[in-house]
Amino acid sequence: MDKFPNMDALLINNQAFQLFLTEAEIMARIAQLAQQLNADYSSRKPIFIAVLNGSFMFASDLLKAIQFDCEIQFVKVNSYQGMQSSGKVQELIGLNQNIANRPIIILEDIIDTGLTMHFLITDLLRYEPESLAVCSLLLKPDALKVKLQIDYVGFEVSNQFLVGYGLDYNGLARNLRQIYQAV
Ligand code: 5GP
Ligand code: MG
Repeated sequence: MDKFPNMDALLINNQAFQLFLTEAEIMARIAQLAQQLNADYSSRKPIFIAVLNGSFMFASDLLKAIQFDCEIQFVKVNSYQGMQSSGKVQELIGLNQNIANRPIIILEDIIDTGLTMHFLITDLLRYEPESLAVCSLLLKPDALKVKLQIDYVGFEVSNQFLVGYGLDYNGLARNLRQIYQAV
């Protein structure tokens, strides 16, 4: 794999990728998202819930631009084939704080079918937070299979496979500063 972070094109496990969003474009959009959040959440002391692994860079850069008191928790959604015919079973792990009566903002890297987010929202609502908002860096509106309310979106993209800035291809490319699309 070419590891030069500012290349326009790269090869990861024989799959070609080309530059889609530059570091400057990502940072500029994150600054705008933070500005919106700063206006909406001042003095509400929300808890950000960042979904690992993909959202680690987004969460880090966004939180640096947040100007209100806040907390952050990192969770993971485990997905496995269940014994039931209903198929995939999802499980939320890592939430170790009471979120009842607190404003919650979920941070995701990308929403594709929306099934992961739908599961997360349903699961977190059981704890009766004061409010629950979703902030995703990327959204593929044409891939959505469930109706979701997504409050803050960085970029709407078409149905293409993206890597970099937290997003992986077979575990690789999460470290890239820019976002690339498969070609
Ligand atoms: P969903 O449940 O919305 O279909 O999928 C959510 C998860 O699928 C994301 O959190 C991410 O891990 C993965 N995913 C969806 N689209 C992409 C993509 O274009 N690139 C990468 N690397 N992962 C994706
Ligand atoms: Mg994710």
